Amino acid sequence: MSARILVVDDVPANVKLLEARLSAEYFDVLTASNGTEALEICARAECDIILLDVMMPDMDGFEVCRRLKSNPATHFIPVVMVTALDSPADRNRGLEAGADDFLTKPVSDVVLIARVRSLTRLKMMTDELRMRAITSLEIGMQTPERSAIADKGTGGRILLVDDRPSSYEKLAPILSAEHTVDVEINPSEALFHAAEGNYDLLIVSLDLNNFDGLRLCSQARSLERTRHVPILAIADPENSTRLLRGLEIGVNDYLLRPIDKTELLARARTQIRRRRYTDHLRDNVQNSIEMAITDALTGLHNRRYMESHLATLAEQASIRGKPLALMILDIDYFKSINDNYGHDAGDDVLREFAVRVRKSIRGIDLACRYGGEEFVIVMPETDLHVAGMVAERLRRSIAGEPFAIHKGTKRIEVTISIGLTTLERKGEAVADVLKRADTALYRAKHDGRNRVVSAAA
Ligand code: GH3
Ligand code: MG
Ligand code: MG
Repeated sequence: MSARILVVDDVPANVKLLEARLSAEYFDVLTASNGTEALEICARAECDIILLDVMMPDMDGFEVCRRLKSNPATHFIPVVMVTALDSPADRNRGLEAGADDFLTKPVSDVVLIARVRSLTRLKMMTDELRMRAITSLEIGMQTPERSAIADKGTGGRILLVDDRPSSYEKLAPILSAEHTVDVEINPSEALFHAAEGNYDLLIVSLDLNNFDGLRLCSQARSLERTRHVPILAIADPENSTRLLRGLEIGVNDYLLRPIDKTELLARARTQIRRRRYTDHLRDNVQNSIEMAITDALTGLHNRRYMESHLATLAEQASIRGKPLALMILDIDYFKSINDNYGHDAGDDVLREFAVRVRKSIRGIDLACRYGGEEFVIVMPETDLHVAGMVAERLRRSIAGEPFAIHKGTKRIEVTISIGLTTLERKGEAVADVLKRADTALYRAKHDGRNRVVSAAA
C-alpha cells in the first residue's frame, strides 16, 4: 500500500532526509519549503499525507495545519507535525490545530514508517468512503465535511481497558471531564463490552497485569462491530516495541506514560472526531445505496431494483423447483382522485396504499412501485392458489377501509385491480411472467375493476 507523502520543511537538509527514508519504503514523496506552497499542493489534492515542520518563517506549521483542517477540500488529509521540541505544550498546540499525529526530531526510522503506514491505511479508507459518498452529494445529501470541521470531538463514549487501579483511577476522571467513560478492569471481558457498548473510542493499556493488550486490539480490529472503533493505546516507554506492533495491527494512536492530561484529552478528541466523520461518510454511502433502490414517495423498492432482483428470485425458484408468484396491482380510477381532490391527496393515497401492502405481505415478499399507481409484488415459494388468497385479502384491505386525505379531514373510497400469475417453467423469462400478469390485470380492469384475475400457468 503506497501513498504520496508531502514533506514540508524550510530547511532543505531536513526535507532530503525524510524524502530519502520514505522513498526507501516506496512512498511517493513531494516536497515544499514553506506553508503557502504546501497549501497549494494540498488544494490540488496531490498528496495523501503531510509531514509538516512546525518552525517555519512566514507561516508556521500550526497555522498551515489550522488552514488545512478548516477547509472542506483538505480537511480529510492526515497531518503529522514534525517538531524539534518535544514539549507537551507544543504537542498540544498542534493537536488543537487539528494535527493527526506528532513526530519529534530526530525522527526514528521505525516510528516514522509505522506512523505513515497507519495513516496511509486511514487515508485509503476515507478516500474510498468519500468517493462512494459523492453519489449522495449528487442527490443532494449533506456533506459531512462541514459538520466534521465544527465537531470539537467532545461528548464521546469511551471504554477504558485497564486493570491497574493506580492507572485508571487517574485516567478516568481526566477523560470524564469531556466524555462518558466506562472502565473495564477485566480485559477478558473487554471485547464483549466493546462490541455491546457502541463506543466512539477504545483506550487500551498495553501494561495489563495478566493479559496481552495487543491481542485485545487485534481482536477488536477483526470483530465486525468494533472494526471501525478507533483504538488509543497507552504504554510504558519500555514497551515501545510492542507499541509499534500495535500500530501495525491497527492501533490508531498511542500515548506513553507518564500521561500528560492535556495531550490525553487532545488525542482522544482527535480520534473521536475522526470516528464521527468516517461514520458519517459510511452512513451517507448506506443512504445513497438505499435511495438508489427505494421509491421516495412510498418507501417501497423502485422498479429498477425489482427488475434486477426479480431475475435472481426467478433463477432461485427454478433451481430449487419452488413456485414463484407475481402480481401487478393498479389503483382504479386514480386519475380522478387527483382530478377531484388534488395531487397531494393522490400522494396520500399512494403512501397509505404502500402501508397496507406492507402489512399484508411477508418479509420475504418483494413489493415495489412499478410506475405511477402501479405496483408489483413478488412472492417466493408461493403457488397460484395461495397467492390468490393473498391478493384477495389485499384487495379487501384497500376497498374495505376508506383512505384519509387532506390531513385526515376527509376520507375517500379506493379500490384496486390485481393481475396474478406464477413462474410457468424453469428458465421462463421474467418479462414473459410480467406480461402474463399485466394481461390478467387488463382483464380485471375490463371486467369491472376492484377484483383479482389469475392467469394460470
Ligand atoms: P384505471 O382504473 O384504468 O387504472 O384508471 P387510472 O385513472 O387509475 O389510470 P391512468 O393510468 O389513466 O392514470 C394514472 C394517473 O396516476 C395519472 C397520473 O397523473 C397519476 N400519477 C402517477 N404518478 C403519480 C404520483 O406520484 N402522484 C400522484 N398524485 N399521481 C400520480
Ligand atoms: Mg389505475
Ligand atoms: Mg395506470
